[in-house]
Amino acid sequence: MPIAFADRLANVETSAIRELFKLLGKPGIISFAGGFPDSAMFDVEGIREASERVLREEPGAALQYGATEGYQPLREQLSAFMAAKGALDVAPEGLIVTTGSQQALDLLGKTLISPGDKVIVEGPTFLATIQCFRLYGAQLISAPIDGQGVQTDRLEQLIVEHHPKFVYLIPTFGNPSGATLSLERRRKVLELAVKYQTVVVEDDPYGDLYFGEAPPPSLLALSREVPGSREWLVHCGSLSKVLSPGLRVGWMIAPAALLAKATMCKQFSDAHTSTFAQATAARYLQAGRMPATLARVRQVYAERAQAMGDALRQGLGDAIGFVQPQGGLFVWARLTDAGGKVADGNVLAQRAIDKGVAFVPGAPFFCAEPDHATLRLSFATADVDKIREGVARLAQAVQA
Ligand code: PMP
Repeated sequence: MPIAFADRLANVETSAIRELFKLLGKPGIISFAGGFPDSAMFDVEGIREASERVLREEPGAALQYGATEGYQPLREQLSAFMAAKGALDVAPEGLIVTTGSQQALDLLGKTLISPGDKVIVEGPTFLATIQCFRLYGAQLISAPIDGQGVQTDRLEQLIVEHHPKFVYLIPTFGNPSGATLSLERRRKVLELAVKYQTVVVEDDPYGDLYFGEAPPPSLLALSREVPGSREWLVHCGSLSKVLSPGLRVGWMIAPAALLAKATMCKQFSDAHTSTFAQATAARYLQAGRMPATLARVRQVYAERAQAMGDALRQGLGDAIGFVQPQGGLFVWARLTDAGGKVADGNVLAQRAIDKGVAFVPGAPFFCAEPDHATLRLSFATADVDKIREGVARLAQAVQA
């Protein structure tokens, strides 16, 4: 007799991307596939100092069980971190610490989604969100995006038509699209939340990774200007992309009733996020190292994004279309069939592996009709020389 798994697993498959990742071990492969930050960018010295101080000054608390809501010194630091980004009124008690922002998404699934409930997401959106919400039985509705993020007129129509349980957006440097929602549309999204009494989730792991001008204020910061919108807004933050994903420190800001339910669910899930990791993150933020770290990662990723954009324009010309990223970790591109070249991301991904370069085809990021011509290229982990070499290989694969 095979093991009888829960019905909910029938809604979810192992991601196509994971299958692709198995091929990445091939020697000499240049990978644009992962969503990882570059481990060479980690502020190891700063984290060592922070963790040593923790063990010297607060070992009892940092190695003990802790409150499900989070380690209080970290909640205080995160409240200040958010205030510095314009979200001025988030009290330490107004947020809970989560085990990465991924756990916040899972807690939203647990607390808000009953089987068959509708949830609106961007098309395309973060693959693990699609999988996570489907695990809870959500029926996902795809809202189209363009260069300015989600199309708010269409979003309004979809809300009216489907009465979703909530709307999930990555408004700033979206994964995979790289798109950033314009200020005007941000206001509109908040107004829609109030008008239709619909929860809007802002997932924001990339907002600090901008290369030039800062992006528009987060929905959270902007909610001060739209009366009533805070009652419908959830904001998920993370230290993963700017400091270290291995620390697994994220946070969720939400209306009190939702935060209480999420905390209850978290209690039964992991009791609390690692106290040691939380205490280390708190000391790190308290030591004031974050601004310098942010400046450094922004500069390095900006150079890499530029190198990748230049190499793509030069090497692939009219075989590819993309918007030069202004932040985040990804180039989201679309193959054209110019000159009869390959215009399918899946086909190209296989050929690219043969040429020694990997990327992720875009189709799995769509919860509805996929655009097979799309691809996601991460510029975060390869240095500029490798980026140039990898794009040259990609150009060969496109010609093949
Ligand atoms: N949301 C988005 C949009 C992401 O891209 C990621 C990581 N790739 C996450 C959430 C989860 O990140 P973490 O759990 O490390 O905070």
